[in-house]
Amino acid sequence: MTLYAGIAFRYRTVDFDARAHVAADALDPVWPIDYAELRPYYEELERRMGVARLPGADPLEPPSDPAVLPPHEYSPQGLLIAKAGGRLGRLPFPTPLAINSLPYGGRPACHCCGPCNEHLCPTGARADARSPFIDVPLPPGALTVALGSKAVHIGLGNVSRADSVEWLDTVTSQRARVRARCVVLTGNAVQSAALLLRSAQSAAPNGIGNATGMVGSGISFKISGYVSGSTTLDRLPARSPGGPFSTVAMSDHYLDDEAPSGLGGMIYEASPAEQAVCDGTIALRLHFLAADQPMRKNTVRLANSRDRLGLQKIILEYWTHPLDKRRLGYLSRRASELLAEAGVKKVDYQDSNYQFGRGHLHGGCRAGVDPTESVVDRWGRVHDIDNLYVADGGFFPYSGGVNPTFTIQANALRIARRIATQLA
Ligand SMILES: Cc1cc2nc3c(=O)[nH]c(=O)nc-3n(C[C@H](O)[C@H](O)[C@H](O)COP(=O)(O)OP(=O)(O)OC[C@H]3O[C@@H](n4cnc5c(N)ncnc54)[C@H](O)[C@@H]3O)c2cc1C
Repeated sequence: MTLYAGIAFRYRTVDFDARAHVAADALDPVWPIDYAELRPYYEELERRMGVARLPGADPLEPPSDPAVLPPHEYSPQGLLIAKAGGRLGRLPFPTPLAINSLPYGGRPACHCCGPCNEHLCPTGARADARSPFIDVPLPPGALTVALGSKAVHIGLGNVSRADSVEWLDTVTSQRARVRARCVVLTGNAVQSAALLLRSAQSAAPNGIGNATGMVGSGISFKISGYVSGSTTLDRLPARSPGGPFSTVAMSDHYLDDEAPSGLGGMIYEASPAEQAVCDGTIALRLHFLAADQPMRKNTVRLANSRDRLGLQKIILEYWTHPLDKRRLGYLSRRASELLAEAGVKKVDYQDSNYQFGRGHLHGGCRAGVDPTESVVDRWGRVHDIDNLYVADGGFFPYSGGVNPTFTIQANALRIARRIATQLA
C-alpha cells in the first residue's frame, strides 16, 4: 500500500444492500454479510493501526467503539473547505485517517510533511498493511515471503480441492510448485480473477470457480473525479499547507434524494502534493467518488497473446453505466459549488481515470449465496472448492461509496480467522 492516503472510512449500511439504488440491469449488489458482522474486525484493526477520527461527526457513520486517536486538525485548505461547506448547510467532518494524530503503536505522530498519497510515509506515522500485525509472534520458519514471485497456476487435487500453487520467479523466469493445505488469493480484484482464469485444467476447463462464467464479471472501480482551483487568502494560515492529503470530508450527498436514484457519494479534500501559499492564494482540490454499478459485461478476461513472462495477458472490459455518469455529474456540480463558496473563481475539472482501474478495485470474484451468480461464498471460499479463498476487493459484490482498503482489511481478517479455526 505505497499508493495510499490512509483514508479509512467504514462501509455504510447502504453499501451492504444497495438494491434500492442500482439500475435494473445491474448484478445483485447485496453482500452476503452486513456491517454488524464486519464491525468487530474494523474495531480490532482500528486498535491495531490507530485510526484518527471524530465519532458522531459523520451523519452516515455506522455505530462504532470510541476512537483510539483524536482526529487530525484541518489543514489550511481543509479549513477553507469546511467553512464553505458549513455556509452551504453541509456537515463537514474530519476525514478518518489511519495516520497517527498522536504517537501510537510505537509509531510517531504525523508532522504534516506533505504528500502522502503516492509515497511511502517517511516517518511511519501512517499505518500500512504490515504494521497492524507486526507484533504477532510467529514460530521460526512459519512464514516465507518469496519476493518477486508470481503465482501463475493453482492445481486441483480433485474437483473440490486445491492442492498446489505454481509460481514464477519474475527475475529468473524459473517455475516452482508448492503443495498447499489451503490457498488464499489476495492479489487484488483484477489479479485474483486472472489467476483463477489462468488455472484452467481438466477439472475446471474455463478456470477455477468459473463454471457459470462469473470469474472476472462485475469488476468495478468506483466512479470519481477531482475539481480544483485557487482562492485568495485574507491572511496567512496559522500553519503552512502540508499533509495529510485529506483532512475534511462530507457525506451529505451519500444518500440524497436529488442525486440520481437517491445515491450520491463522498466528497473530500484531496490536497495536491505541491501545496504552498503563493501571492496570497492557495490551491484547493476536492475528490468526489461514488460506487459504480456491478455489471455482468464489465469483466476481466484473458487474451490469447502473452506477456514477457509467457502468461496470457489480462483484458479489462469496462463501461460506465449511464446512471453512474449522471451520478458523477451530480457530484461534480456539488463539489464545484463548494469550491465556488470557498472563493474559487475558476473551477477546473480533472479526470481521475478511474475507468482504467488505477485506484479502487472490486468484484471479479463476487461473494454471494447463489453459486450461479457469484464466485465465492460469505467466507470468501470459492464455491465447491473446500480450501481456496479470495480475501481482497474481488470479494465485493458492490463497490460501496467510500475508499475500500479498511473494508478489504477487515474482511480479510474475518476470513483469516475463519480459516485458522478450520485448519486448527
Ligand atoms: C494513489 C492511490 C491512493 C489510494 N489511497 C487510498 C486511501 O487513502 N484509502 C483507501 O481505502 N484506499 C486507497 N487506495 C486504494 C488502495 O491502494 C487499494 O484499495 C489497496 O491497495 C488494495 O489492497 P489489496 O491488498 O487488495 O491489493 P494490492 O494493494 O494491489 O496488493 C496486491 C498484492 O498482490 C501482489 N500480486 C498480485 N498478483 C499476484 C500473483 N499472481 N502472485 C503473487 N502476488 C501477486 C501484488 O504485487 C501486490 O503486492 C488508493 C489507491 C491509489 C492508487
